[in-house]
Amino acid sequence: MGQEVTLTPEELENKEIIKRYRHLLRAAKRVKTKEDKRLIRDAFELSMDAHKDMRRKSGEPYIFHPLAVAQIAAEEIGLGATSIACALLHDVVEDTEIDLDYIKKKFGPQVSAIIDGLTKISGVFDEKKSPQAENFRKMLLTLSDDVRVILIKICDRLHNMRTLEFMNRNSQLKIASETLYLYAPLAHRLGIYAIKTELEDLSLKFTEPEKFKEISKKLSQTKEDRAKFIRSFIKPLKLELDNLGVKYEIKGRPKSIFSIYNKMKKQQVSFEQVYDLFAVRIILDSTQDNEKRDCWNAYSLVTSIYKPNTERLRDWISTPKSNGYESLHITVMGPFGKFVEVQIRTERMDEIAELGYAAHWKYKENAKEISNYDNWLNNIREMLENPESNALDFVEEFHTNFLSEEVFVFTPTGELKKLPINATALDFAFDIHSDIGAKCIGAKVNNKIVPLSHVLQNGDQVEILTSAKQKPNKDWLSYVVTGKAKQRIKYLLKEEKRQIAEIGKDLLIKKFKNEKVEFSKENILTITNFFRAQSELDLYFMIAKEIIGKDKLKIKQIITEGQMLQREQLVANIKNTIESKPKVEHKKSDTIIIGDDNVQMDYSMAKCCSPLPGDEILGFITIGEGIKIHRTNCKNAISLMSQYGYRVLKAHWASDILLVPESYETMIKITGIDGVGIVSKVTDIISKDLQVNMKSISFESNDGTFEGKLVVYLTDTSHLQELIDKIKSIDNYIHVTRNSVD
Ligand code: MN
Repeated sequence: MGQEVTLTPEELENKEIIKRYRHLLRAAKRVKTKEDKRLIRDAFELSMDAHKDMRRKSGEPYIFHPLAVAQIAAEEIGLGATSIACALLHDVVEDTEIDLDYIKKKFGPQVSAIIDGLTKISGVFDEKKSPQAENFRKMLLTLSDDVRVILIKICDRLHNMRTLEFMNRNSQLKIASETLYLYAPLAHRLGIYAIKTELEDLSLKFTEPEKFKEISKKLSQTKEDRAKFIRSFIKPLKLELDNLGVKYEIKGRPKSIFSIYNKMKKQQVSFEQVYDLFAVRIILDSTQDNEKRDCWNAYSLVTSIYKPNTERLRDWISTPKSNGYESLHITVMGPFGKFVEVQIRTERMDEIAELGYAAHWKYKENAKEISNYDNWLNNIREMLENPESNALDFVEEFHTNFLSEEVFVFTPTGELKKLPINATALDFAFDIHSDIGAKCIGAKVNNKIVPLSHVLQNGDQVEILTSAKQKPNKDWLSYVVTGKAKQRIKYLLKEEKRQIAEIGKDLLIKKFKNEKVEFSKENILTITNFFRAQSELDLYFMIAKEIIGKDKLKIKQIITEGQMLQREQLVANIKNTIESKPKVEHKKSDTIIIGDDNVQMDYSMAKCCSPLPGDEILGFITIGEGIKIHRTNCKNAISLMSQYGYRVLKAHWASDILLVPESYETMIKITGIDGVGIVSKVTDIISKDLQVNMKSISFESNDGTFEGKLVVYLTDTSHLQELIDKIKSIDNYIHVTRNSVD
């Protein structure tokens, strides 16, 4: 009889750790040499030892986390030994006794530089600074040396998102928002599509759990229908493609949960109207010399079977995106009157599309793609070198300049330029050269003269018009979106002001001399405060510009009297701010419960999203206006949370809220075909059928259509739904959406 072996929990855990480590080694396909294997082993052993007494929130041994991050790096992005070792070590410096010097000694400068980029800045931040923003900037700073920092950070974030259920609600919202605002777009820009999609879906799962559940449930219920449709769409294509003489693979997949959710929200339509949107992908097994021709051949086959919508042809093969993405996209009319997007690409292009930047190591010889990335990275580096901007501005600027979609425009000589979406003629001018930007008076877009503020569209050809007499002014700052133009304009404005101020300073020195008063720091400050100038520079500027007349510069008098006055003003100011503090509108502290300890606190409803009972909500601590309640899917809230996560408080509606119904202001927008009596039908529903109180109503007709805006008082989301359904039932063309109260 064999002896039964019972393992202790500890032994079981150790067994599991070894199992996972072996699993990692099998996934590390690019690790072949002895040195590489040794590097990973050393990193694993150090990490294992350093984290040995730590556990994750889920109760698991901490080492499971670095192992999982390394697994993602190896398996899902295809990174090599250095990255895998860094992934294993990524939390060591931040969370354990081991410091960077030790890592440097043991693993060399390259590994320690990457680990440094992955280690958060610790310490105390003052109120105005955002630790999240500071850390994000720090991580990107390391990017100048090594892109792998960001790739590993994305793997880390993915694993944290996959295990987010173990965190408290506050952290869930903070981390999910930050993921949506920065990490998913970053993964997108680095071309890692699969991970980008998963990050988005997971963010939705935690910011809007109900919506997420609803969409995923409906997606699985409609799976068979979709498969059937795809089969019938693909069948005739296959017959033709077989004659092409090129091996191929064809697959159809539905859009992600997040993109379905986004479409429903943006177009205010139901799941049924968007769930069957597909992308069918044809992947050709072609050689690099023939790939262009093969793709276009496949294109002409597809369009000979299904009628294309030529306005929706996207040729990312002739002009790849900045993130290296290449593919041919065309939308065609499929069976049953349904539009289908067909993506045509080769295996090489597909790998780049899935793996993004990481795939470039494999195709390094392709100079075109490398230069696309290098441009992007160089632009980020340039921005990082600018010491002026603070971390918060930086994150916002990074977002608009490097993570948003882009437009392609041409110079007069036909050179292609890529700018962020909404870039203007003035942005273009500064992109070419800062001197051209400074002297820009307008532009010719496609041979038509346009103002500086003209927003550029894809394919525009832009010629900048300059004049030697031109000077930048303050308004220019509202005409530009690129960081480059903004920084340059700010600098030029300051420079000009400084020159003018010099004249004012000389004048003031003379005045001081005449009255025999010492030109001291303290005395200048008194004068500055007396004239309510923002700074010394402002004072000189105001004097030079004669905003402060010479006759008013009675130095001695001001210094004696001014000091008195200043004190009085200060007292008055303080009184003023106390009295003018905004009144809190909703002081019903018993309807919403804020924070972890279920303490009731004062709050007010954010105007941008006007939450109703039934909405997922959160509290945000503002400076000066107390706690504001936002909907968790509010655009403003998402950007606030990603920058000031530490100011987010979890909040929920009190469960006994329905016992004492309150009403909340909600705006509803109605559009449709104008008919007789539409206004009275709507008002009847509101005042007679549902007995809802209305604050305001306005209707506008235009060419047979109308748009109405109602501000009504509602008790909760089901009340809102009831109202929307009733209004919709007036006729088939009516469209009702919930809007924010302006
Ligand atoms: Mn981590």
